[in-house]
Amino acid sequence: MPNPPAGTNPSARPSTDDELLKLVTSFGVAPAAPQEQVETPYFSSTLEVPTGLAAPQNAKLTITVNYSVWFVDRNTLAGRAVRDNVGNAVMRDGSRTLFRLLDWDSRAWPYFKRQFEKAAEFWNNRFRLRTPDEYSGLSYPTLGGAGVPWRPDVDCYLRLTTNAKIPTQLVVYAVRPETFDGGDPNYREFRAITSLHRSHRPAAEMFLPMNLKGDSAHDLQVFAHEIGHVIDANGFRRDHIGSRLGTQGCFEDDNAPVCYNEPPGVPPNIMGIGMGLLPVNADGWQTAIEKHTGVSKFKWEAVVR
Ligand SMILES: [Zn+2]
Repeated sequence: MPNPPAGTNPSARPSTDDELLKLVTSFGVAPAAPQEQVETPYFSSTLEVPTGLAAPQNAKLTITVNYSVWFVDRNTLAGRAVRDNVGNAVMRDGSRTLFRLLDWDSRAWPYFKRQFEKAAEFWNNRFRLRTPDEYSGLSYPTLGGAGVPWRPDVDCYLRLTTNAKIPTQLVVYAVRPETFDGGDPNYREFRAITSLHRSHRPAAEMFLPMNLKGDSAHDLQVFAHEIGHVIDANGFRRDHIGSRLGTQGCFEDDNAPVCYNEPPGVPPNIMGIGMGLLPVNADGWQTAIEKHTGVSKFKWEAVVR
């Protein structure tokens, strides 16, 4: 165990208020306590600080999105699909291509829900934020005389809830798109849509297609990708991996194909067309921790766990 720095020996009783203040400050326990709960239009965020000083634990930063699902088909147009002239439900996808929607049934519902929950789990506990040296609000005096404050890192969690008693932040429209009526030959697959609205509620709406070929890995990628758009706390819509990495042209159009690409040598990214994660994908949590602590998100270095 290192020797305590001069003047910070915790066993020495401070004799004056001044000395006490100096002691407390040297431990970093002083001001700047983080805010426990913050809200963005898209999610709530909770910061739990460790309580037990004996066993070092990280702080827990949990983003919670309260959502509801509509299963859109002929029976439930949900104000988002329309009927064609023979009574089928139809809807345009993210490429403005018209698709006919199949009905949901008792096998498809649970499949969709399971995939959606798995997609949320994909983001859960994947990042750690390093608490910057300049922030003392998460520091604890080290017991036992080392004299060096202990500063926990912050583990990042995601929770999706379906609580009818609190406001819904995300509405998911689940669809089973069937047909393709022409249009852009590059997109024969229903392109998912996530729309973020700063000024009205719910703040996020998502149109998620269930893949009829039964490709669950593909569904998982699409669902987790779209959830990635929701936990972008800024609603800035520059979340595709190319945009996050500053690829040219993405600032103007986050949906340009190049914005789905990551640099060579790293696995295809979740905010592109793969399942890989990079520290830049932690932006939602970095934005949240800035709100909790008042310390710029750029100072909270993210590490993929
Ligand atoms: Zn996207």
